[in-house]
Amino acid sequence: MAPPLCVVCKTERALIKRPKNHQKLCKGCFIQIFEDEVHHTILSSGLFYPGEKVAIGASGGKDSTVLASVLKTLNERHKYGLDLVLLSIDEGIKGYRDDSLETVKRNAAQYDMPLKIVGYDELYGWTMDQVVETIGKKGNCTYCGVFRRQALDRGSKMLGIKHVVTGHNADDVAETVLMNLLRGDLARLSRATSIVTGSNASDVKRSKPLKYAYEKEIVLYAHHKKLDYFSTECIYSPEAFRGSARTLIKSLEKVRPSAILDVVRSGEDMARLVPGQTQDPCACKTNAAPAPSAAEEDNGGGCGSANGRSTGGEMAAMEKQLRENDKAAEEKLETEITIPKSNGTGDRSKPKEPKASSITVPIMKQKLGSCERCGYMSSQKLCQACMLLEGLNKNRPEIQI
Ligand SMILES: [Zn+2]
Ligand SMILES: [Zn+2]
Repeated sequence: MAPPLCVVCKTERALIKRPKNHQKLCKGCFIQIFEDEVHHTILSSGLFYPGEKVAIGASGGKDSTVLASVLKTLNERHKYGLDLVLLSIDEGIKGYRDDSLETVKRNAAQYDMPLKIVGYDELYGWTMDQVVETIGKKGNCTYCGVFRRQALDRGSKMLGIKHVVTGHNADDVAETVLMNLLRGDLARLSRATSIVTGSNASDVKRSKPLKYAYEKEIVLYAHHKKLDYFSTECIYSPEAFRGSARTLIKSLEKVRPSAILDVVRSGEDMARLVPGQTQDPCACKTNAAPAPSAAEEDNGGGCGSANGRSTGGEMAAMEKQLRENDKAAEEKLETEITIPKSNGTGDRSKPKEPKASSITVPIMKQKLGSCERCGYMSSQKLCQACMLLEGLNKNRPEIQI
């Protein structure tokens, strides 16, 4: 049976069933819609200003590769006037990061963007391989996450850049919302859902332009745009709680595709109720205010590649199926191309317009000092990285302090 026509252009055959709402689209319309939605997110939250220098946190994984590709496309198409740079963190994980960094180097050439690589070894005196050797595999994602956050900040400072964008997608945000909900940590919800995070004490702003993009659509986009990315997962085990939250999100998506965006929006709504926090999911009229003190947020956890983590298996299966579909399509043109099925319904693909009555609470100034040891912003005497390092260094006899 020949595939039906694309519901948008009504001329091309629909080869893609959109994971977000099951719309049947041709390849061209899917790519266009994906880019338009990211453009809408960027415009509606006033994410950039003309001439801004922006560092893209690039891991070589699908999320940041798609982010770099889409930003390059939109920057040229809509004349954002952005100066885009790739910023990569080398955690020092043999067989994982060294390979993915090769991908980033190729991306830099493909997208004609400068690339800066900052290593954990030069920043902290420890590679992740050494950390794992010392503390074991359990809990290593905590170290990696804390180190990564500071590393991106420090790397962008080295480049004189005040805005870092990361490839966090809707699945990542939904996962973090659930985790904070399950922990009863509403204060963190705001940081998890906010498109812009920053801190009064830091002049480096963070944002996630792919916040409303489904992970499955990112895989589809990367596939159909034939992007060069690295799809091996971090070799060290992810945090168990995060893995469970992710599995839950994916199960919900199977029976109700809109569940991911629903959780993101519920997170935004709940964050608005937290005193001292402000949230505007789609601030069409105003600039997005940074959520306070994201200095030590756990958004995205470790494995900053956001590379599928515990559900890497599912994403890998999807990638494999896409490749097989391509092969089948080449061999037999009339083969319908589908992606793994799910049964739910839901047609809420568009980001909600902001509610007229949305409550905006002024941001409470948080008292943030700086770390006694390294000067990085911190509400404690020592920042999280220095606290972790203190523990690590105690366990390394040759450099005991
Ligand atoms: Zn079409
Ligand atoms: Zn410190």
